Amino acid sequence: MTQIEVPSETIVVEMGEDGLNILETFMQMSGMDDSAPVQCDICSKPLGKMKDVKHIESPESITIAERNGFKPEQMLKATENMLKEEGEENHDELMEIVLDSWKSIVDKSETPWVLCDECYESIKNFKSKR
Ligand SMILES: [Zn+2]
Repeated sequence: MTQIEVPSETIVVEMGEDGLNILETFMQMSGMDDSAPVQCDICSKPLGKMKDVKHIESPESITIAERNGFKPEQMLKATENMLKEEGEENHDELMEIVLDSWKSIVDKSETPWVLCDECYESIKNFKSKR
């Protein structure tokens, strides 16, 4: 059994007869307290306090960027490294689950996304593409 941490979600997976099964997913609801430390919703980089955040995107913008092919590269890289460090043999398969799960978070999301400078810049290119 492997636990994968995706920003705002934890996925528990297990190898079954027909490949990987998702056993459980936990959503971690982040509070919108003004004084609480916030982190980038895509790569989990700490961004200080809510009032210091420079980039806030509507869930619609994130969905558009995702449909245009945006992927949370930093988050995927960090997850892949984590899986390799744990000696996980099925990391390619797990990475597909991580990406699918991230996409479903994007689809379900109804709250604004807080972004760091880098993620804001990378998503910006995908928002304008038609
Ligand atoms: Zn970021």
